[in-house]
Amino acid sequence: MLQILIISGGLAVVIIVITAIVAAAHQRNLKAGSNGSARMLAGSLRDEKLRSTVILNGIEDGVMLIDGDNIIRLFNPSAGRIMGWVPNEAVGLDYHAVMRLVDDRGQDYQEDKNPFAMAFQQKVTIRDNQANGSTESNKQISLSITASPLLDSDGEVTAVLGVFRDISDEKREEAQRADFISTASHEMRTPVAAIEGYLALAMNDKVSKIDTKARGFLEKAHASTQHLGQLFQDLLTSAKAEDGRLTNHPQAVEMSAYLEQLTDSLRFTAQSKGIAVEYVLGAAGSVIDATGDSKVVKPFYYAFVDPDRMREVITNLFDNAVKYSDKGKISLGITGDNDVVQIRISDTGPGISPEDIPHLFQKFYRVDNSSTRTIGGTGLGLFICRKIVELYQGRIWVESTVNKGSTFYINLPRLTNEKAQELQRVAASQPAATVAASLAASYAVNTGAAPTTPQPIQVPTPPLPAPQATITPTAPAPVAPAATGVVK
Ligand code: ADP
Repeated sequence: MLQILIISGGLAVVIIVITAIVAAAHQRNLKAGSNGSARMLAGSLRDEKLRSTVILNGIEDGVMLIDGDNIIRLFNPSAGRIMGWVPNEAVGLDYHAVMRLVDDRGQDYQEDKNPFAMAFQQKVTIRDNQANGSTESNKQISLSITASPLLDSDGEVTAVLGVFRDISDEKREEAQRADFISTASHEMRTPVAAIEGYLALAMNDKVSKIDTKARGFLEKAHASTQHLGQLFQDLLTSAKAEDGRLTNHPQAVEMSAYLEQLTDSLRFTAQSKGIAVEYVLGAAGSVIDATGDSKVVKPFYYAFVDPDRMREVITNLFDNAVKYSDKGKISLGITGDNDVVQIRISDTGPGISPEDIPHLFQKFYRVDNSSTRTIGGTGLGLFICRKIVELYQGRIWVESTVNKGSTFYINLPRLTNEKAQELQRVAASQPAATVAASLAASYAVNTGAAPTTPQPIQVPTPPLPAPQATITPTAPAPVAPAATGVVK
């Protein structure tokens, strides 16, 4: 009998019921004692099997059991209906032939992305809501898959239990909703911009004469209109980010020079609020002796990103740091190792409580506490940041201590100097699509896919986690501090 040790996902309840039935039968048999009749035992087991069959046949979700040789041992009627197979014909076949998974571009999933293969390899439950399945008649459907390993008493995977659902309708509705939001916000931005312009004119002494009371009203109306305009802009950007319509022209960018320049252009907003701004190259807190200045070799931190999109991300994080802090310092830093470029933006603001952190990068999430409630915002900024960083197979997360401050980290796959120069040469001579294709190939080899969910707070020492290469979050490995450190 297979021992089900790790079960989760949509059908966990059903499987637990099955396990409970088997356990109950076992209990009854124990109660029957050594004198219990063999007939009772056989009857009881027959009953339990019948009940399991009824449950498996009756549920809406597809259930598939794969053995250690990748052979399908169980394929319930819903699995057959979803994938277009006659269940009995699927049983006994290699699951790859029946559950062909493809990505959005129709490319077959590699084994390191296939949730069933990953459950075998990693011995943990893998969830994937991005897979497309190709049915028996080659129709593509969107699938939500949970693959749970079944472990024996030695902790070895004996089989994987797959539970899956066709989510094509949900995905279609989601796309329609995003389409509506993007059209509506696009249409509404224009009149809002006009109102904002006319209010600005009304408040302009050279154009209109208004008394102090009226000016007060207009200033409030102007601020609200600006907020509305920002909301529509954020809605539009997030809708585009979700359905992949965000314009994106990645190129090889040397991120340390880029971040240094960006810091200079941003520092004014913070300084006007009395908040200091620093740019740190290398490991946090390490300072190069000024006398050794000429000997310092600054490393190149190349990443393949659209500089305009990354400016949005960093500006957003910086603006939040300014918005939510009253005093202190904002620090923008960059470091990395062979594989990762890591950017961090730290502040000495109010911090974020641990229970809010897992939700921060979700749409419309705003922390509701006394220190931030009165500050305006849309709750879309961090969601947009995450979407943009994920465009580049990167990761964004935050570490924070209440009343001390927050540090937002961004990890991006690092390009070698050679690769960056090659890409720059190719970009100079070829269209962007060719460059992107060449880079996508190298990312596939080096980094794997980006995680789909924000990671929980990590406190590594030194605090520089590396990017995740799989769907399932695991503790990130620390990035070794860079050899140099320069504080500007
Ligand atoms: P908003 O438009 O509300 O700022 P964001 O998505 O940018 O939306 O941020 C989500 C929430 O995260 C904010 O409402 C705020 O409560 C919290 N937050 C973001 N950045 C910081 C920060 N640097 N310090 C404290 N809280 C922050």
